[in-house]
Amino acid sequence: ALTIGIVGLPNVGKSTLFNALTRNQVLAANYPFATIEPNVGVVSLPDPRLGRLAEVFGSQRILPATVSFVDIAGIVKGASEGEGLGNQFLANIREAQAIAQVIRVFDDPDVVHVDGKVDPRSDMETINTELILADLQTLEKALPRLEKEVKIKKREAAELAAVEAAQKVLERGDTIFSSIQSDKLDMEHLKELNLLTAKPFIYVFNADEAILGSPEKQAELRALVAPADAVFLDAKLEADLVELSEEEAREMLEMNGQDESGLDQLARVGFHTLGLQTYLTAGPKEARAWTINRGDTAPQAAGVIHTDFQRGFIKAEVVSFEDLMDAGSMAEAKARGKVRIEGKEYVMADGDVVEFRFNV
Ligand code: GDP
Repeated sequence: ALTIGIVGLPNVGKSTLFNALTRNQVLAANYPFATIEPNVGVVSLPDPRLGRLAEVFGSQRILPATVSFVDIAGIVKGASEGEGLGNQFLANIREAQAIAQVIRVFDDPDVVHVDGKVDPRSDMETINTELILADLQTLEKALPRLEKEVKIKKREAAELAAVEAAQKVLERGDTIFSSIQSDKLDMEHLKELNLLTAKPFIYVFNADEAILGSPEKQAELRALVAPADAVFLDAKLEADLVELSEEEAREMLEMNGQDESGLDQLARVGFHTLGLQTYLTAGPKEARAWTINRGDTAPQAAGVIHTDFQRGFIKAEVVSFEDLMDAGSMAEAKARGKVRIEGKEYVMADGDVVEFRFNV
């Protein structure tokens, strides 16, 4: 499954955030057959379309798409040198599809900071340096062989050039992800190396009221981590919110001047960062969002429901969510000619409402 690995220095609020993620009990109730692993926290992707679909179809329940986060044991300076925990740590990050880095920006004299003071830039550099050093080691191992293989024409020169360009980026202290555009990195040829810093990054700023209430301060922090996405939340507040009823939680958020919880934000940004989108299905039993990659075709989308659906795919009946809502019912959407029949080549759009036809 696709997961986002949570990393960060000690005492920045990772466990607090992770507790909020795992105590989010809605999911356990909705997905009775899912195995819940202790180090995985699942959040549902907020999607107001599902509620409206459920009304139109009289669906009994709503199943949103989800995003999974893995708690990765604390990073410490020197992890990339590969002692004990370090290796396991790196292996765990390698398995994640994206990295969420928690950075402390809350002020609290009672919570000790490992480096003595709250300094988001320095914290970010400490973590990223460890990841960069690990990637440099990977490249140093890969390069001699690659050079040889290019010489005997077993591999293209372009591959070597891509790796050398990546090495330059890392040597000057930048992550691959932050340099893809600026350095026009040839990601196709870097894929195979599964570099840690080539994964998409999200920065989660664990903030206090001073920052949550200041668009200027947030803009500064956003600029610090661009082009990566940033999420601003208060981990302690999030941990409290998941204990409340939906209504109480909404009131508490309003009191804090927020219209969305940090976990909801995290789910949305995470989903986007992973390059995912959803399509929708609905019937009397359930209204449901299914997760696919941007650019997936109709048979690939069908395969997410069941592999047999992909193998036996015949066609898909597709209506956009907006057209369906305008029509008010499936029958009316059909009468208006808004329900299209799509074949194997069709590339799914976000919010397509779909029914698949297939052979078994
Ligand atoms: P970890 O080491 O990164 O997992 O950090 P923890 O989640 O254990 O948090 C370290 C300490 O900071 C704990 O005492 C938390 O209660 C506290 N803490 C976490 N998040 C916040 C926050 O948003 N505000 C404040 N004031 N304290 C926090």
